[in-house]
Amino acid sequence: MIETFENTRLAFKDRSDRELRKAYWLFRLVGNPFLVKVGAIKLRIALWLRLPVNWILKPTIFSHFCGGEQISECRATIEKLAASGIQTILDYSAEGRETDAEFDRTAHEVMETIKKAASDKNIPYAVFKPTGMARFGLLEKLQSGEVLTEAEQGELERVHERIGSICRLAEETGVPVMVDAEESWVQDAVDRLVENLTLQYNKGRPLIFNTLQMYRHDRLDYLKQFFSRSRENGAVPAFKLVRGAYMEKERERAVAMGYPSPIYPDKPSTDEAFDKATRFCLDHVDQMAVCIGTHNEKSCALAAEAMDGLGIPRAHPRVSFAQLLGMSDHLSYPLAAAGFNVCKYVPYGPVRTVIPYLIRRAEENTSVAGQTSRELYLIRKEIQRRKTALT
Ligand SMILES: Cc1cc2nc3c(=O)[nH]c(=O)nc-3n(C[C@H](O)[C@H](O)[C@H](O)COP(=O)(O)OP(=O)(O)OC[C@H]3O[C@@H](n4cnc5c(N)ncnc54)[C@H](O)[C@@H]3O)c2cc1C
Repeated sequence: MIETFENTRLAFKDRSDRELRKAYWLFRLVGNPFLVKVGAIKLRIALWLRLPVNWILKPTIFSHFCGGEQISECRATIEKLAASGIQTILDYSAEGRETDAEFDRTAHEVMETIKKAASDKNIPYAVFKPTGMARFGLLEKLQSGEVLTEAEQGELERVHERIGSICRLAEETGVPVMVDAEESWVQDAVDRLVENLTLQYNKGRPLIFNTLQMYRHDRLDYLKQFFSRSRENGAVPAFKLVRGAYMEKERERAVAMGYPSPIYPDKPSTDEAFDKATRFCLDHVDQMAVCIGTHNEKSCALAAEAMDGLGIPRAHPRVSFAQLLGMSDHLSYPLAAAGFNVCKYVPYGPVRTVIPYLIRRAEENTSVAGQTSRELYLIRKEIQRRKTALT
């Protein structure tokens, strides 16, 4: 499998020469930590001052990593991916919301993605971020065990109503919903919520997916406990496995507040935990569902080999791979061509609301060792291949 991940002709078949050159420059820019740091600060200031930013972002980083500003604008992306056997997960990326009105709008939009998925075979799942439904501070307080004020109790009830409406629609339409994972100081509260939803809605089929960040050293045990509790209660547990996007923030907070970091001390330990979690899910695939969310070649190859070794059909309805739009096409395209279920997270939303997501992608591409250089190496290889093919 690993050799086919070098097949740049396949990986970039949907990219014109112009798009490929654009991607090359984009990854060169985001590969520069200084530029990204300064750029992120400038963007946050521009957002705060309400300066116009669409003109610079939309044709560049936005168009690379996002499907559009609305569901209808994502059509071309969905169709292009589908032509290569890759499915889409529409991800309404509105982050940093604070008011009930904003949370209601986000819940409404997530429900629109469920309706869209119900009518489009190329969209197998919906997704939402817990902090798109609830104020971060509220989740933090809930997790800390502090007593909520009466107003906060009301706020929490409204969060349950929003998420309840989403889950009921998921149940009616049969569209599974993934719940993203966030910082550890709100994640326990999210886990409790999702575990209850799992017990309620996953009777006989995997409908609500929790996300496990395998950079946390408690997640492998948690996976097994969650699995057992669900099975004891007759529910089918479902997980999206990722490594985790907030490593630096997690470590900084742990140091600042003087508690042990929840993150593994090194990358190999995270990698090992991710692959063990994948293996656990594949070993129990008759009782659960898993989405393997990673850009790591080795993890994808190991998972693919394990599936073949265990005799799990490549298109097994309870196993899928997922990557983010604009990243790691060299994994998505060959995996799909080899018959595995593959999805791309396709973020969309008004440019301003997607900015935190874009900043995270840029920061991740500088801080994740090897990721940018890998993307750049492959893009450069394909540009070179096309030049040679012409001569
Ligand atoms: C489809 C999809 C959905 C996602 N959803 C979420 C989500 O809900 N929540 C979320 O937090 N993230 C999410 N992510 C992002 C994900 O957590 C990772 O940040 C990203 O995918 C990079 O990890 P990797 O497995 O792709 O690749 P790799 O490049 O192999 O791994 C990089 C990751 O390894 C870990 N790592 C790096 N260095 C160290 C170190 N020194 N010690 C310990 N660990 C280290 C970090 O998690 C880092 O992000 C998602 C990613 C995908 C593809």
